[in-house]
Amino acid sequence: MSKRVYNFSAGPAALPEEVLKEAQKDLLNFRDSGMSVMEMSHRSKDFESVLARAEASIRRLLNVPETHAILFLQGGASMQFSMVPMNLKEQGKKVDFLQTGMWTQKAGKEIKKECEINMVASTESENFMRIPTPEEIRLNSDASFVYMCSNNTIFGTQWKQFPETGNVPLVADMSSDILSRPIDVSKFGLIFAGAQKNLGPAGVTLVIMRKDLAERADKKLPTMLQYRTHIENNSLYNTPPTFGIYILALVAEWVEKNGGLDAMYKRNVEKAKLLYDAIDGSDFYHSPVNKADRSDMNVVFRAGLNGGNEDIEKKFDKEATLAGLTNLKGHRSVGGLRASIYNAVPMEAVQALVDFMKKFEAENRK
Ligand SMILES: *Cc1c(COP(=O)(O)O)cnc(C)c1O
Repeated sequence: MSKRVYNFSAGPAALPEEVLKEAQKDLLNFRDSGMSVMEMSHRSKDFESVLARAEASIRRLLNVPETHAILFLQGGASMQFSMVPMNLKEQGKKVDFLQTGMWTQKAGKEIKKECEINMVASTESENFMRIPTPEEIRLNSDASFVYMCSNNTIFGTQWKQFPETGNVPLVADMSSDILSRPIDVSKFGLIFAGAQKNLGPAGVTLVIMRKDLAERADKKLPTMLQYRTHIENNSLYNTPPTFGIYILALVAEWVEKNGGLDAMYKRNVEKAKLLYDAIDGSDFYHSPVNKADRSDMNVVFRAGLNGGNEDIEKKFDKEATLAGLTNLKGHRSVGGLRASIYNAVPMEAVQALVDFMKKFEAENRK
């Protein structure tokens, strides 16, 4: 393939082309070290500076207060489903749980192994096509923490406003919308995100957490599964995913160069609007997601008259791929189509998709 495609993958997902080019330039000889970042000791000065750059950039972008540590871990977001309750559960207390999709279901399964949960709100009976309203959410002041997922990658919904949890730490899985918009980190006890959607390559998991919460954990937990281990050792207790952290640093610096989170957010809203307007403007396309809760990152839609048609969607995906627009098939559990338009997906890609949609509709409307 001579040309890069417009990649709408949900994850691992598109990376900024500038970042890939910079990594390519440095691949054989990083900053006159005579070697690749992949080949150097994680305790070397060169790598320590990479790690410091990654942390500093994330801290600036999200305005992370000194009360919170920034960690680069392994095991993916899915490992956090276990680490969070192992470390943050409290004797005799329950977890307030907000059920909004498959990733919270998977997290809930792991949390229940450690402690009881209190299902505060769930939109499961509506096939997760919306986010619970503030009126539906009755939080308990004696919960050990509140658990939520900020953006539901599979169902295409996103929390536009976070619940007020008072003194109870709010834990959020932000795997698919971290760095897509400004957030107030001081309102969260713990945020985690697998890197492979909006931050970098697979293999690194970003954790931003209140340092004091790490002291809740039983010291008998496996050393690697205690947050305090990684806080005390600045993510260098063992060998971290060095190359992934390097790419993450380049991505975070790319976000800064492009105006930071306010600019990213503005661009993401414009991209999403272009696509949702194209969907809403035609009876050939259809969004099943409640309008107010539609994700700016993962646009879930159906193609075909009368709400969608699987054969038409298969054809759409196939022809789109041939036209250089890839990974538009919906998640296997929900079907339909999905365009993931993370930070690194340019407006030009979304415009190309909208143009393709118009052409496809004209050819297949019958
Ligand atoms: C992709 C995803 C996960 C799973 O991430 P892994 O790194 O594969 O464990 C969890 N939560 C959300 C919201 C995701 O989008």
